Amino acid sequence: MPRYVIDEAALRRNLEILKSVSDRTGAKILLAQKAFSCAAVYPLCARHLAGTTASSLFEAKHGREFFGGETHVFAPAFAPGEMDELLGVVDHIVFNSPRQLALYGAAARARGVSPGLRVNPEVSVAATPAYDPCRPGSRLGATRAAVDAWSARHPAMDIDGLHFHCLCEQGLDELRRVLAGFEAKFGDMLPGLRWVNFGGGHHITRAGYDLEGLAGLILGFRRRHPGMEVYLEPGEAVALDAGTLESRVLEIQPPGEDGVSNAILDASAACHMPDVLEMPYTPRVTGASPGAAGPFAYRFGGPTCLAGDEIGTYSFPAPLKEGDTVAFEDMAIYSMVKNNTFNGVNLPDIAIRREDGTVDTWRTFGYADFAARV
Ligand SMILES: *Cc1c(COP(=O)(O)O)cnc(C)c1O
Repeated sequence: MPRYVIDEAALRRNLEILKSVSDRTGAKILLAQKAFSCAAVYPLCARHLAGTTASSLFEAKHGREFFGGETHVFAPAFAPGEMDELLGVVDHIVFNSPRQLALYGAAARARGVSPGLRVNPEVSVAATPAYDPCRPGSRLGATRAAVDAWSARHPAMDIDGLHFHCLCEQGLDELRRVLAGFEAKFGDMLPGLRWVNFGGGHHITRAGYDLEGLAGLILGFRRRHPGMEVYLEPGEAVALDAGTLESRVLEIQPPGEDGVSNAILDASAACHMPDVLEMPYTPRVTGASPGAAGPFAYRFGGPTCLAGDEIGTYSFPAPLKEGDTVAFEDMAIYSMVKNNTFNGVNLPDIAIRREDGTVDTWRTFGYADFAARV
């Protein structure tokens, strides 16, 4: 304790939805490893998806080693010292600017790696600026103006594809708007290209997502651009609601002025659920309702010294006691991949709940992991 428990049955449900989208549309779907990198379940994922995408050399190596299929990579800028090794493990590479493409595109070609350019359609749909790659002054993707300014002074770009990524936890309406903006701004560059990558942020596996509409949108795009391969690279949607973070109550303080007791857990927002503080949001807790309205209300906080290491206030139908387990839901994504050992707090175990109900511990951590990082 604490431990993440990944639920294979929930993961499989997501994967089957994603596979149905590729079966109907011919689009290839990649796992964006930055959201979820649990190699224990990569064999299951690989039976449903076409491969992985990476944000770095390490993620690319990890995808190649444990997942297989296609290995794509995008980074805002690549480090020259890593390029040789990177080109040995990926088959698609997406450059963030015409300048990066000019630096490394020929080397990619020479190694049989398909080069592409990330563009910025300048259609802002994300709810907050932190998750909006189209925000003013964004460093992510080349705007049409940047492409034109470069093209006026340089030979034609040698690329196979274009990539855009503008969504965050979003549905079909936002994708429609982004795709329309992309085609309006960059449609003239598409003839002669082989692929377009629609990025991530598609909440395809969320209840109520318009799967029918998505299939229609992709098929329509492919009819307008015959022969064009379409990629989607969701992270969240792959492991949405497919895991919990189980923690234990270490200490319950007497109720404060507001009638709410602080309960100190062995799990930390700062260390184990950083998105709770970064987004911010209040995660669901199994068996509790959010807020202090109920009879037994607790403000959950982590074991660190950070005053702001608070997860949220929850009401329970019965009193909690020390030693009880508290399970935070939807913790497979953007959790294990962001863990840290701030304050010397140990990393949670990682376990897999198999479809037959057995729970296998996949990873445990200890002092050596902390000492090796600081
Ligand atoms: C973050 C990211 C993804 C995955 O996004 P999700 O919101 O987890 O689906 C895909 N592609 C790129 C370029 C990203 O930056």
